[in-house]
Amino acid sequence: MARKETGDIAAGRLTSGQLAENFSDVAPPLDRQRALIEASRCHFCYDAPCIQACPTAIDIPGFIRAISTDNLTGAANKILEANIFGGQCARVCPTEILCEGECVRNDPEDKPVEIGALQRYATDWVYERDVQLFTRAAHTGKRIAVVGAGPAGLTCAHALALLGHEVEVFEARAKSGGLNEYGIAEYKVVNFSQREVEWLLSIGGIRLQHGKALGRDIHLSQLRREYDAVFLGLGLGGVNALSLGDAALPGVRDAVDFIAELRQAVDKAAVPVGRRVVVIGGGNTAIDAAVQSKRLGAERVTLVYRRGADAMSATNHEQAFAQAEGVHVIHYAQPVELIARNGVVAGIRFEHTRIEHEKLLGSGEFFEIDADVVLKAIGQVLQADGLSEASVELLRLNKGRIVVDADFATSLAGVYAGGDCVGGKTDLTVQSVADGKHAAAAIHAQLTQA
Ligand SMILES: Cc1cc2nc3c(=O)[nH]c(=O)nc-3n(C[C@H](O)[C@H](O)[C@H](O)COP(=O)(O)OP(=O)(O)OC[C@H]3O[C@@H](n4cnc5c(N)ncnc54)[C@H](O)[C@@H]3O)c2cc1C
Ligand code: SF4
Repeated sequence: MARKETGDIAAGRLTSGQLAENFSDVAPPLDRQRALIEASRCHFCYDAPCIQACPTAIDIPGFIRAISTDNLTGAANKILEANIFGGQCARVCPTEILCEGECVRNDPEDKPVEIGALQRYATDWVYERDVQLFTRAAHTGKRIAVVGAGPAGLTCAHALALLGHEVEVFEARAKSGGLNEYGIAEYKVVNFSQREVEWLLSIGGIRLQHGKALGRDIHLSQLRREYDAVFLGLGLGGVNALSLGDAALPGVRDAVDFIAELRQAVDKAAVPVGRRVVVIGGGNTAIDAAVQSKRLGAERVTLVYRRGADAMSATNHEQAFAQAEGVHVIHYAQPVELIARNGVVAGIRFEHTRIEHEKLLGSGEFFEIDADVVLKAIGQVLQADGLSEASVELLRLNKGRIVVDADFATSLAGVYAGGDCVGGKTDLTVQSVADGKHAAAAIHAQLTQA
């Protein structure tokens, strides 16, 4: 294999065989026997706490009961009518803090029912056989524009198409799926996101236009004129700056860009990775960037977070996973200076921190870590440039997110929004699906009221 070297950043540190193994399914699917055994562990609780913990309120005991009688179409139907991204969520949901975290079997002598794995078992059955479970209602003659083909946008589009509306989806990137396709670590969603999108679109009534960015190719005022309603599912396309002055230094990059490059690479052996990688941040992006650097062949990966483990937005499970993968985690340290040598990054200087009266303070004690690559994962932000045309009243934003009411209606009449771009809860796939679903119901109510 060709090994391309630039200083200590190199592609092809591992063989193709090692890379294939490292990026294969981290949680392989259940077979029928294991699924039936797992389904038999469910108590089918009345007022099941697992349902309350699911933002999309999937009838979990209901679908598990269907699995236990080998009725996989029925099981998948129960999942997908509540959450059209049920396959993706089965793979990526932090179930340990959602449904499985609330399962009544959750005590030291027992373990929760593996709800996520069972959900995957049922939904995969549908995608593999291309079974279409839903039928569209009669045409309403209404047209809705959806901007952004991520989980929020496509959920909203699917729900509206099902109700008989025509939906046009405008997506800036070349592929649909949002962070399902460009963000979430591949070993969680091996060869899956596009298959799921194709299945979702097979309902009909949804027209997708890729390479169409709001603010560049299309404008909000135009969409409001031409469509009966608009839904914005823009996600958070921008990234916070590191504020260390020299952030344009070669070797320093945004973790989300690195992750997107890796997700889109046909050949992982062609993706360059540092020998010594430092990741700054404490969320999903930081964990995924660190673990994937390690799995690409980086020798030493250090994740540095300015507060303690409890304050990290990555779950305990994700943090433990990163440590088990060999990522060295340092808490209570903040970056203060990038160190350059020969025009490229050579390290980064940190200051130890402490919390006093809930305030983060520098301690005045410093240390340095050598690095060929520094990945910034200090939070994503809304790219608001497409929203602030002079021709429309300004869409109300608060703390960098779009303000919506309980129906996901924005401050502009007929314009709704959901998913990460509205925030307020957790930035999770399942939350974006819930938002898209609720917004679609509100749009439908608005368009069909007498
Ligand atoms: C690295 C990473 C790992 C993650 N891991 C997990 C995980 O394991 N589990 C989990 O539940 N969640 C995870 N998340 C969070 C999850 O991916 C998001 O919460 C979810 O994708 C948000 O969905 P969305 O539809 O709101 O936005 P997105 O998925 O970001 O989709 C927004 C879409 O809008 C498009 N768009 C943006 N601006 C414009 C414009 N101006 N014009 C047209 N189109 C536009 C974008 O190209 C994109 O396709 C992760 C996030 C990241 C970054
Ligand atoms: S809480 Fe656990 S045992 Fe009860 S219905 Fe949900 S999965 Fe089954």
